[in-house]
Amino acid sequence: MRILLVEDDVLLGDAIQAGLKQSGYAVDWMRDGVTADQALGTEAYAAVVLDLGLPRLDGLEVLRRLRSRGAPMPVLILTARDTVDDRIKGLDAGADDYLLKPFDMGELAARLRALVRRASGKAELLLQAGGVQLDPAAHRVLYRDQVVELSPKEFAVLHALILSTGKVLSRAQLEEQLYAWGEEVESNAVEVHIHHLRRKLFPELIETIRGVGYLIRDDKKA
Ligand code: CA
Repeated sequence: MRILLVEDDVLLGDAIQAGLKQSGYAVDWMRDGVTADQALGTEAYAAVVLDLGLPRLDGLEVLRRLRSRGAPMPVLILTARDTVDDRIKGLDAGADDYLLKPFDMGELAARLRALVRRASGKAELLLQAGGVQLDPAAHRVLYRDQVVELSPKEFAVLHALILSTGKVLSRAQLEEQLYAWGEEVESNAVEVHIHHLRRKLFPELIETIRGVGYLIRDDKKA
């Protein structure tokens, strides 16, 4: 999952980026409203963590612009402005959730999981496809009741495909979920992760749609 973090406080941003990376997210960190607005116009993020008090363009304005483009991506607002009025403004501008500073990193990660889950239309805590169970909170995958050891990137590829069950994801879309800006994308990385997933789980789980991408079907059985 790729997350956009927008925070101008360097110490806090650094801590959030490190915390989210540890939770398995690829994190792009923007420090002002204008670059955040530009990033949101070009990239598809699984979710956005948005500070309100930002240089160059206020967080609420970033959010309004995002929604006026019709982008549905879930947005969690971070705010030190602890007034009901500010929270109402944020939610009215299209935020899905908010956290008051200071907050606990574990709570931020849990709220993001809930937002991503809701946005995908999958309300269950455990994601399932073809007898494979994926637990985003515990970062764990079970197949035939056995825990399957996956690398963080393998987990991220499987997570993205299961969240989009029935839809084809292109290699580029999977790469976007795996790598933050500035991170070097290894060539054939996605193919290699898919190869490992088929070997560790079962070969038919992930289909290759030639020239288009990869797919897990709703009814795929081992
Ligand atoms: Ca700020």
